[in-house]
Amino acid sequence: MVPPLFFWSPQLNAAPADQIRLLDVQSLDVRLSQLAHKRKSLPEHAEIESLNKDLSQLRDLLVAAQTEESDCAREQTKAEQDVDQVRQRAVRDQQRLDSGAVSSPKDLENLQKEIVSLAKRQGDLEDVVLEVMERRESAQERVAELTERVSSVQSKVDDAVARRDAATQELDGEAASVAKERDLVAGSVPADLMKLYEKIREQQGGVGAARLYQRRCEGCHIELNITEVNDVRAAAPDTVVRCENCRRILVRTAESGL
Ligand SMILES: [Zn+2]
Repeated sequence: MVPPLFFWSPQLNAAPADQIRLLDVQSLDVRLSQLAHKRKSLPEHAEIESLNKDLSQLRDLLVAAQTEESDCAREQTKAEQDVDQVRQRAVRDQQRLDSGAVSSPKDLENLQKEIVSLAKRQGDLEDVVLEVMERRESAQERVAELTERVSSVQSKVDDAVARRDAATQELDGEAASVAKERDLVAGSVPADLMKLYEKIREQQGGVGAARLYQRRCEGCHIELNITEVNDVRAAAPDTVVRCENCRRILVRTAESGL
């Protein structure tokens, strides 16, 4: 037996109506790919990522400000205790002085000197307290400001997440209904034709079947040469024809220009 000269081996036959239905499957598959792509490239994905980056930086700054505030609080307590110690000692000295218990002029002079020096020391230490309190206050302001900013960015994140989820849900709903229709149409196409289609689709970027329109393959958009046109013309209507260039299933219609 003479082997067929056709370039679309292995030979597969399918009724022209089934071949045309395969084009419907193909367009539904394209729709599904578009929906999946749209779902993956929703602008909210980038928006959320960028907002989360801001949020993480702001949270770091907030933690740093809170740490500074609590360090200042500790420093303030310590400085206040220092003031208190000096004040208590000055009070004791003053009581001793007032009690008349110290009679030696030398001791009295030393005691008075110490009271003066303690007063000076207390003043210096009170300045330290004031300085720490100022630093603590600005740290508190910074904590308040950053808390506000964190909460504002967080609400932007929440908003973008809600928009992303709503858009995703809508696309998923649409994809589910397209998939249902696709399965219905695919179920009416002969299994061997579907199998070939799926195999080519996997190899050819999601397009397994293409219409032959005005002698042009709509899969690769290359026009068939005269030999190819003659081969397609000579093929029986139920022969499954393949594009010589891209190897996709070429479906003939009334507009194929044959
Ligand atoms: Zn082609």
